[in-house]
Amino acid sequence: MSEDKKILTGNFGASVYNDQNSMTAGNPGPVLMQDVHLLEKLAHFDRERIPERVVHAKGAGAYGYFEATNDLTKYTRAKFLSKVGKRTGLFARFSTVGGEKGSADAERDPRGFAVKFYTEEGNYDMVGNNTPVFFIRDPLKFPDFIHTQKRHPVTNLKDPDMFWDFLSLTPESIHQVTILFSDRGTPRSFRHMNGYSSHTFMWYNDKGKYFWVQYHFKTEQGIKSFTREEADRMKSADPDHATRDLSDAIKRGEYPSWRLEVQIMTPEQAEKYRFDPFDITKVWPHADYPPVTVGRMVLNRNPESYFAEVEQSAFSPANFVPGIGPSPDKMLQGRLFSYHDTHRHRLGPNYHLLPVNASKASNTNNYQRDGFMNPGTSNIGYPNYYPNSFGGPAPDPKAVGPAITVSGQAARQEYIHPNDDFVQAGDLYREVMTESDRTNLIGNIVSHLGNAQKRIQLRQTAIFYKADPDYGSRVAKGLELDLKKVKSLAKMSQEERVKATQK
Ligand code: NDP
Repeated sequence: MSEDKKILTGNFGASVYNDQNSMTAGNPGPVLMQDVHLLEKLAHFDRERIPERVVHAKGAGAYGYFEATNDLTKYTRAKFLSKVGKRTGLFARFSTVGGEKGSADAERDPRGFAVKFYTEEGNYDMVGNNTPVFFIRDPLKFPDFIHTQKRHPVTNLKDPDMFWDFLSLTPESIHQVTILFSDRGTPRSFRHMNGYSSHTFMWYNDKGKYFWVQYHFKTEQGIKSFTREEADRMKSADPDHATRDLSDAIKRGEYPSWRLEVQIMTPEQAEKYRFDPFDITKVWPHADYPPVTVGRMVLNRNPESYFAEVEQSAFSPANFVPGIGPSPDKMLQGRLFSYHDTHRHRLGPNYHLLPVNASKASNTNNYQRDGFMNPGTSNIGYPNYYPNSFGGPAPDPKAVGPAITVSGQAARQEYIHPNDDFVQAGDLYREVMTESDRTNLIGNIVSHLGNAQKRIQLRQTAIFYKADPDYGSRVAKGLELDLKKVKSLAKMSQEERVKATQK
């Protein structure tokens, strides 16, 4: 410890001569108002907590770098991807989604997989999950969905009825539910899982030609998952096992790494594709769009302060750099608003100036001013309005991205697409999973869904049946449901099925 850290001081730097006894009138005596050290210490303690994230509250993070290993300049002009061998610093945070800040790392849940690239053109954030798809495709459903994964408003308990009620009333969730209830829903550690953008993004090159892309971070440690029994044991043995594992591995010098791949689709291909390329409940099968390697992410440095660097780290899918932009994916459009908004609530309007979030490229130069906790290190030396005649920052026309054409009526419109919600979940069950994956999937579902009301079990099992008859039949058997009833519910439209299971 340096010499200047050896003397205890108050928040404004003056030395404290005694930190064990409050200042009193007499002995023992009441404490005195003039004990400003006591007042400051209590007042700061009273304000130690900030709101936890409404989702992804429990997480761990580390610093590292990204190295480009392939020349993809014909697809994107992003400078951090412009040269083979180029390295860019980054901070990554992994998390569970539904649990509170003190919840167990081994819970069945998607895992957040967020990467902040400190590029020379500003920060680029890739804010994904360890699953390539999501439960819903419309952001209007998001708050409801998350409520069902959290605690019941009356009992403050996790509630299997509301968990499965919402999913069974939202059949587009079946693909993600199948992944979540496979053993990949309980990764052995953050190091042993893949990360996916899940959304489609735009890449554009220096000629303004654009492409649609999906990101895949493939773990170089190999996929390793817990079985349900192993996860249950880990939850009680060490609720923080994944947080500990990440930091211990880095301390040992075993730096975790991921190979970044992208799938690339031209706008012309997107127009004709059999799946909606902007539907987050679907993947682009690899046979249609083979992944192309982009580079490698390595994590090699632990944070020094959990609060300053992990808790205050704030990622947003709206943080782009030239060469990368959004797609028309509706869920993404909702997230473009919500991430910055939640950080403003959690950390204040100047959270982008905190060291872990600040761009390393340049100062933030704009006319947004002041606000709580503004250290005054940016936006100084010029007026607070634009345009001005005093040399303030001006837009750079070179930063423009391509325009895309959209058309249609402005209205709340039901999602209609010829491809159904069940086909890819069925493909996963039939073609990708091994027999032991399927057995574990069924066991994981039965042990969880079995706690919900029978009518909800029936409605959800009919959805499994629609994805694949063997899948639905095995869940029905595990739950001792009448298979004839399940089959007849599976034949109905969703509207009829809901009506038939209302009581
Ligand atoms: P492929 O056979 O080419 O690829 C299968 C993919 O599934 C691999 O990426 C593999 O990941 C992953 N996978 C294996 N087991 C599971 C599991 N239990 N849960 C989730 N993913 C798993 O298949 P397709 O591309 O034709 O897609 C078939 C199905 O595979 C999809 O419907 C989707 O459910 C799933 N999938 C597809 C992805 C894609 O982007 N195309 C990505 C992830 C899953 P790994 O190589 O790391 O083992």
